[in-house]
Amino acid sequence: MKILIANPGSTSYKCKLYDVQDMTVLFQATVERIGDEQGIYSYNFNEGEPSKEILKIPDYYAAVNLTLESLKQKFSIGEVAAVGFKTVHAKGVTGCVELTDSVIQAMKDYQPLAPVHTDVYLTAIDVFKKLLKSTPLIGLFETHFHVNIPPEAYLYGIPYEYYEKYGIRKYGFHGASHRFIGMRAKELYDADKVISCHLGGSSSVSAIKDGWSIDTSMGMSPQSGLLNAKRVGDLDPFALLYLMEQEGLSIAETREILISKGGLYGISEGLSDFRDIEKAMNAGNERARLAFKTFAYYVKRYIGEYMAILNRADVLVFTAGAGQNSPALRKEILQGMENIGLELDDRKNEANPEEGLISTDLSPVKIAVIPTNEEYVVAKEVERFIRMNMTKKD
Ligand code: ADP
Repeated sequence: MKILIANPGSTSYKCKLYDVQDMTVLFQATVERIGDEQGIYSYNFNEGEPSKEILKIPDYYAAVNLTLESLKQKFSIGEVAAVGFKTVHAKGVTGCVELTDSVIQAMKDYQPLAPVHTDVYLTAIDVFKKLLKSTPLIGLFETHFHVNIPPEAYLYGIPYEYYEKYGIRKYGFHGASHRFIGMRAKELYDADKVISCHLGGSSSVSAIKDGWSIDTSMGMSPQSGLLNAKRVGDLDPFALLYLMEQEGLSIAETREILISKGGLYGISEGLSDFRDIEKAMNAGNERARLAFKTFAYYVKRYIGEYMAILNRADVLVFTAGAGQNSPALRKEILQGMENIGLELDDRKNEANPEEGLISTDLSPVKIAVIPTNEEYVVAKEVERFIRMNMTKKD
């Protein structure tokens, strides 16, 4: 079965056509700088030479259309069993579902909670509906992996009726990534209790037991939990109300600040990429150091929380852009955690393995680096959805 995984970004679009039987990538394409005079388009077929061109790509429709025209050089659209999306959030909907009008309405209902991601997904889904009228569009919601989080972990201390009326509670995100880490940690280390640290432009930590999340750092929206590149992370609600009053901010202005002016960027005043932060910090920029240390402190705090909730983990995993690539960040996070069973091996950490252990041989809890693979999880779930629905129809 062939499944196209669509990965829309705010000014980019990427896709991969998978043969899900052996998970080979048959075709992949990347469109960058959508809307620019000088858009960048590249694509290639399985092990073929990559082709790259610079051309004007006015909008999302043009971007997706371009990739489908290339795909059609070797495959027919009829061969594509479904298009899969790593959808973020929808009111009252989670799991792996067909993106029907009612699901799209549910995504719109919770759009204010994840506006940046939801808007690009809604645009991309709309374009696909126009271009591929008979191919099912399937979404795996990022909240799905967290459905087993118990009520005592997902409830906030607000009147219960608001939870019932509006669904105000913790949901959790990065589900595809944490799920992959849970599966891979089981495969590699036979781990049943895993703490997964997804540290990148967007970051979260998840406590995983027997393959499913039992708690996670992000709450009702992806703006909570750890500091993100520019998104705020945990914030006292009364601090927010006070700020709004002092600055005379509207809800829309406040939302914009929380999404685009907070996190690492907010503390460092202008730096949001860990590579830039580390460089600036090493050159003596104290604000960059503060952003780096604050981020690491938050991660440490969540690790401690999840060590308690899991009654100790079997393995702690670092993944995503910074988790996989920054020995300095991992060292800062794990400093002084030996007494709770986390012993980092400095030499292994500095060697920065693509995948493998970075703990000492005697560390009571293993520490590992594992590259995440969100598309794998989405493709597999979409395949399962298609098979189940085809069986039902037959
Ligand atoms: P996203 O959450 O945006 O999908 P990624 O998981 O790809 O992002 O992570 C991107 C981030 O990873 C970058 O913004 C950068 O901060 C960080 N990163 C990537 N490579 C390195 C590196 N070698 N050292 C430190 N940080 C890195």
